[in-house]
Amino acid sequence: MTNEPKESFRDRIVTMNEKGGRNWIYANKPSGKYYKARNIVGIILLAFLFITPYIKVDGEPLLLFDIIHRKFVLFGVVFWPQDFHLFVIGLISIIVAIITFTVVYGRVWCGWTCPQTIFMEIIFRRIEYWIEGSGDQQRIRNNGEDSFDKLWRKTLKHFIFILISFFITHTMLSYIVGVEMVKQYITGSPTENFSVFVAIMIFTAAFYVVFAYFREQVCSLICPYGRLQGALLDNNTLMVTYDYKRGESRGPMRKEEDRAEAGKGDCVNCHKCTTVCPTGIDIRDGIQLECINCTACIDACDGVMERYKLPKGLIRITSLNNVEKGEKFKWTPRIIAYTTLMVALTGVLIVLFNLRSDFETTILRVQGSLYQKVDDQHLSNIYNYKVVNKTNREAELSIKLISPEGEVQLAGSLMKIEKQKKMQGAFLIKLSTEQLTGSNTEIKIGIYEGEELIEVISTSFVGP
Ligand code: SF4
Ligand code: SF4
Repeated sequence: MTNEPKESFRDRIVTMNEKGGRNWIYANKPSGKYYKARNIVGIILLAFLFITPYIKVDGEPLLLFDIIHRKFVLFGVVFWPQDFHLFVIGLISIIVAIITFTVVYGRVWCGWTCPQTIFMEIIFRRIEYWIEGSGDQQRIRNNGEDSFDKLWRKTLKHFIFILISFFITHTMLSYIVGVEMVKQYITGSPTENFSVFVAIMIFTAAFYVVFAYFREQVCSLICPYGRLQGALLDNNTLMVTYDYKRGESRGPMRKEEDRAEAGKGDCVNCHKCTTVCPTGIDIRDGIQLECINCTACIDACDGVMERYKLPKGLIRITSLNNVEKGEKFKWTPRIIAYTTLMVALTGVLIVLFNLRSDFETTILRVQGSLYQKVDDQHLSNIYNYKVVNKTNREAELSIKLISPEGEVQLAGSLMKIEKQKKMQGAFLIKLSTEQLTGSNTEIKIGIYEGEELIEVISTSFVGP
């Protein structure tokens, strides 16, 4: 019974064999309170993902990321390229929030809410269990002789995987072009929208390859967030951790044996924690880059502890400091700094969001134009305007001069702008020569919806 921690696992990732080939992971299905909770979270998130494209708010989708037409809708509010600064700050806030969350709770995002994990564990691996049996049964069948039984199971599984990948692709597409457009693509002939058809095929193939073959390699080798972990986690971070002080030395349970006297800890070396791990690692080797904090090993080990009437929590969510020194979670300067930044950014975002106007107006004096003499006492300047109506309603706007006193001459008295449309045109401002303060007189122009002043624009009026 030698149980010294071995370091060889750090030499290569567990899914790669010595020849550089792939070690396939046959993860068994866990059972326990964390697995149940994870299923509930996953099903809620999947329902949100698949139902959201059909939900409308004021005629707009709940979420839309139309990068082609640069139109973004968040919870029914339409964002234009003019609101790009809000998007940038929102994106930075999300990144800081993820970093803060990771510093405190480790990779809980990966194991519980990442779409890759949810699709893999809640949909694809479940189908695999239904058709090919548990991880152990899959290993035995795959290593055995070719047979009809193996053939029909594999064919059925991959056929269903392709269908689901096709469905996921269309769902993702509906977040970009809207669900109505996707319906048109589906009911139309592929030749009508050939480039879209090709894109759908490519993405369907990509999803299929990821979930049928690539699997945990995405988390271990590709995901940039996964690669960041080494820089974000510290000894104070809450993570799925094996309590080696309690567990070692590991050894099988023997009847009538006093484990303490025999120099054994609580780990009975049953390997249940490794057989449920979707990334194929042994958590008893310590914190590893591949661990996505899915908590499957906690459920597996708690089941074993219960069976042998030992206290649960040999593997649990805790910090390394807690295991090594018995320290409770504490607010480190790093956590305080990230949290302060996150709160500040969120505050800025809320303020900017509230200040965001429903209309965006630009008024510029026509380039190269000088003043026109209307009569002996009056001069006029010509201006171009451009108004964006960001709302979901048609608007009737008017332009009035706030200061100094003068007259605005617009072709038609009101600007009628359809919802989410732009309008541009020209207007004249007539001022009395007595109002001029020099060759450039500062003027303030108001944009009104009915009697409500919605925007004030400062510009200049040129005179002699
Ligand atoms: S499941 Fe628990 S007891 Fe079994 S090997 Fe893993 S840590 Fe040890
Ligand atoms: S070690 Fe445990 S928590 Fe980490 S990926 Fe494996 S089963 Fe999940």
